[in-house]
Amino acid sequence: MPDLLIQGATILTMNENRETLAPGYLAVEGNAISALGPGEPPPEIQAAKKVMDGSGKLLIPGLVNAHTHLAMTLFRGYADDMPLMDWLEKKIWPVEMGLKAEDVYWGAMLGAVEMIASGTTCFNDMYHFFEATARAVADSGIRSCLSGVLLGFLPNAEERMERAIDFVAEWRGAAGGRINVMLGPHAPYTCPDWSLEKIARAASELGVGIHIHLSETRKEVEESLQTRGKTPVAHLEGLGLFQNRVLAAHCVHVTDEDIAILAERRVGVAHNPGSNMKLASGVAPVPKMLKRGVMVGLGTDGAASNNNLDMLEEMRLAALLHKLEGGDPTLLPAYQALEMATRGSARALGLADEIGSLEPGKKADLVLLDMMQPHLWPPHSMVSHLVYAARSSDVDTVVIDGKVVMEGRRFTEIDLGYVLARARETAERLVGVRGGLAAR
Ligand SMILES: [Zn+2]
Repeated sequence: MPDLLIQGATILTMNENRETLAPGYLAVEGNAISALGPGEPPPEIQAAKKVMDGSGKLLIPGLVNAHTHLAMTLFRGYADDMPLMDWLEKKIWPVEMGLKAEDVYWGAMLGAVEMIASGTTCFNDMYHFFEATARAVADSGIRSCLSGVLLGFLPNAEERMERAIDFVAEWRGAAGGRINVMLGPHAPYTCPDWSLEKIARAASELGVGIHIHLSETRKEVEESLQTRGKTPVAHLEGLGLFQNRVLAAHCVHVTDEDIAILAERRVGVAHNPGSNMKLASGVAPVPKMLKRGVMVGLGTDGAASNNNLDMLEEMRLAALLHKLEGGDPTLLPAYQALEMATRGSARALGLADEIGSLEPGKKADLVLLDMMQPHLWPPHSMVSHLVYAARSSDVDTVVIDGKVVMEGRRFTEIDLGYVLARARETAERLVGVRGGLAAR
């Protein structure tokens, strides 16, 4: 007998055949999808322990945020409208120096509730105090891929790297399998070659992936060409990093040769249009990368450079940005944007066997959206509505790993008011020390 049955919903499976069931049913047993199909469920499935009426609703696989820094929700709205390096060096890195594990926990909890409420069920993170983010993942019910950020210029860089390697070994598969792990060297320009080589070796010994920022700004690429005579992508290829599974965030300034390397080495790319636009980093050649077979997923980046973690908004930004950039309204159609946010991100993270589409045997990470809304009417195309017209507040119910974490926009176990209060207190203390929000 299934634990959960959702019936009467329009279902976008996001499977390889792009099947839509209108209407259809989906059953969950334990933490996995046990059955789905068109029309009415067979009698043995109708006897599920819990039945949800999906009429007027759209059922999609949970959205997968391929690149973020979850606890940076604490710095949302703290420093805007600045160039990347100024923003990092003058505002973000100084306050981050004062962070403690407990601060990261509350920032991560805030990020987790924000993501769940906007239909994201899995995120790929890189940040300090990764154990605290891992605790927030365990407590909030969300799925994740976590890595500790490694920066070559920090005191005790080598010791931190050892800790990140230990973390990977200890936390892999924790929280009932909801915690996946990677190693997270920040970027080629912040990590010396010896450390990247060491991380590449550790990743292959442990059999885990590597999460890194890559070719985000023009300056990064120019400096790499000047000092090494190579692009950052060619540099990492030379260091042997791509012998491992790698998720590279941004890849804004990449050459055709770089794209060929990314495709050949099966590097996953996280496209972050909101962050790239806000920091004026540039426009990643996503249509070209997709055409050449690069696995491109979608991410929000941290909330300090976006300023939210809303994947519905990110899909729309991606679909609009590439049409404008390419001067071609046929570029990145709605379905492709949705595919990037689901299957695409899952593939880029190496999790496509578990998540990213609704298929029997895959994890039950599900999102139900309420489509009976004036801004989503008439119901011509659910995919178009989802990408071009839906809002995160249309997300009604969220299931992660078979567990209902939000139903009818209410969290089933998380005390939202408490999380908001603790996150505010934490954030105000952190920036208050640095001169404060109160005066602004
Ligand atoms: Zn980032």
